[in-house]
Amino acid sequence: ASGGDGARVIATLPGDGIGPEIMNVAVKVLETVAEGEGVSLRFEEHAIGGDAIDKTGKPLPEETLEACKASDQVLLAAIGGYKWDNLSSKDRPEGGLLQLRAGLDCFANLRPATLQDELLEGSPLKPEVIKGVDIMIVRELVGGIYFGEPRGFKDADGDRAGYNTMVYKKSEVERIARVAFEIAKARKGNLVSVDKANVLEVSQLWRQTVADAFEADGCEADGLSLSNMYVDNCAMQLCTNPSQFDVILTGNIFGDILSDQASVITGSLGMLPSASVSSPGKPGIYEPVHGSAPDIAGQDKANPLGMVLSAAMMCRYGLNEPEMADIIEDAVKSVLAKGYRTGDLMGASPAGAELTQVSCSQMGELL
Ligand code: ATP
Ligand code: MG
Repeated sequence: ASGGDGARVIATLPGDGIGPEIMNVAVKVLETVAEGEGVSLRFEEHAIGGDAIDKTGKPLPEETLEACKASDQVLLAAIGGYKWDNLSSKDRPEGGLLQLRAGLDCFANLRPATLQDELLEGSPLKPEVIKGVDIMIVRELVGGIYFGEPRGFKDADGDRAGYNTMVYKKSEVERIARVAFEIAKARKGNLVSVDKANVLEVSQLWRQTVADAFEADGCEADGLSLSNMYVDNCAMQLCTNPSQFDVILTGNIFGDILSDQASVITGSLGMLPSASVSSPGKPGIYEPVHGSAPDIAGQDKANPLGMVLSAAMMCRYGLNEPEMADIIEDAVKSVLAKGYRTGDLMGASPAGAELTQVSCSQMGELL
């Protein structure tokens, strides 16, 4: 899937709220770095979310889905806003993202929680506990208890019950485990698989399958280590000793909870990137963790760094251009080290630091 000129095609989906403002910054940064590195990228913009509802009546127009399928990678900014809050749940802007993930078969969610040293005071945890935290959570996204059958409500001996099923097939565990192995190879190589194998059969299968795939793939020879942790212990360790973690591999519900927990310890929502990826060679979706921030939309106040770091993740994991990712991540570190902050970050720096408040577009120019 690439442009006829050999350029790789990036589908850009600015979406709603602050989306267009932060997307502008990310595209500008990517263009500059790609040119410097001699990498050829072409950007093609498409509608999604509330913007697409206004234009076409649907949160994910057919044209957008087809363009994303044909692209090399997808960069998404943010979806949703007050204007569409009254729509029924199936017509809401956010549905566009779920349909896009399903349409691209994105079964793996990558959520880094990385603490920039310059933002130590934004975290609710003590600086000495979180210093140097750099975690990647690899969460299975399309299976487990959120999708398992049977599910529903039923009568239970005159009482009422609601029920869901947590089920994983070996093949589902193997494919998410292999995503985590690849990620771990590009990092420190220390993998922790998180489950509840002391209580759940589905977790026993998960644990065994991960161990077998690790062995079959010769991961030890590639310098990886694998250990297992129960999810309750992991939640505790994320608070008491988060810097022990490198890559956490886990299922859908545990990953949902742990990735939100891990993002809070870094203290800066506007800084965090994420990715939803499929099998190698297929497009993934790269987007910031934060939402469309309708309260500050159109005011040039948004922090574009979560979007910019999502673009860096796309370079590293989607385009296989790690040098571009390094350059972008270093540029982010450098502007923070020089004291430049968007409004949301003004309180998150060590006392006494000399700070300069900048707008979204100014931050883009400084990168
Ligand atoms: P979601 O759309 O995922 O439900 P949400 O409604 O929970 O998200 P956000 O849209 O992320 O929340 O906004 C939460 C708060 O954080 C808002 O006050 C918003 O202004 C602020 N915020 C979010 N992202 C940014 C950003 N990039 N820069 C500055 N402030 C932000
Ligand atoms: Mg919201």
